[in-house]
Amino acid sequence: MQPLAIFGGTFDPVHIGHLSVAWEAAELLGAEVRLLPASVPPHRPAPQASAAQRVAILHAALQGQTRLSVDTRELDRDGPSYTIDTLAELRAEQGERPLVLLLGADAFAGLPSWHRWRELFGVAHIGVLSRPGVEISFGEALQQELAARRVDDPMTLHETPAGRVVELAVTPLEVSATRIRELLADGRDPRYLLPAGVFADPRLLLPYRSG
Ligand code: ATP
Repeated sequence: MQPLAIFGGTFDPVHIGHLSVAWEAAELLGAEVRLLPASVPPHRPAPQASAAQRVAILHAALQGQTRLSVDTRELDRDGPSYTIDTLAELRAEQGERPLVLLLGADAFAGLPSWHRWRELFGVAHIGVLSRPGVEISFGEALQQELAARRVDDPMTLHETPAGRVVELAVTPLEVSATRIRELLADGRDPRYLLPAGVFADPRLLLPYRSG
């Protein structure tokens, strides 16, 4: 069964760094990828654009292809969500379909601080997005989980619904939403750092323009 992979983030705004990573992961896994914009906890700085504005930009960015899509379930709930709850909800909807949580290698290294982290392996596989040539060290608890779960071939994730960890080597692009917000606030036009669809409607980027 074709896996369903999820890639979470603030996406304030989504940019080619996010999209190329999600696309390459989709190819390596033979999967559909959903981008899940997150609600931001009250103690973190609020995104510059509202949830509705970030979703509108995501829809514009994803035009013209069907492999990547947007899933707004975390925004539709009250307050921020735990990843384990989001994955449990997807599991209930998707039956035995393989689910893959996509995480950057640094986020994966911090997994043991997450709410009910060991339960994540019961509901999903994890695809660790690594940059070629960059090694990140993992603590002992994570090493132990990895010893039992690590596989080399991403396509083996098609065989079971959850529980494996695979490294996905993706192409690094030095693009961040922070930099794009700075450029837009300065009246610049980051034409090739955002997908073309986003420029089709100039209103989409207004939340980031100053004045
Ligand atoms: P900000 O600059 O506002 O912190 P960001 O560009 O890092 O934003 P997020 O929405 O926080 O974007 O990121 C969502 C996910 O995408 C995170 O897991 C993040 O590590 C990853 N990501 C962000 N930029 C890139 C990039 N250029 N290449 C690969 N992954 C990226």
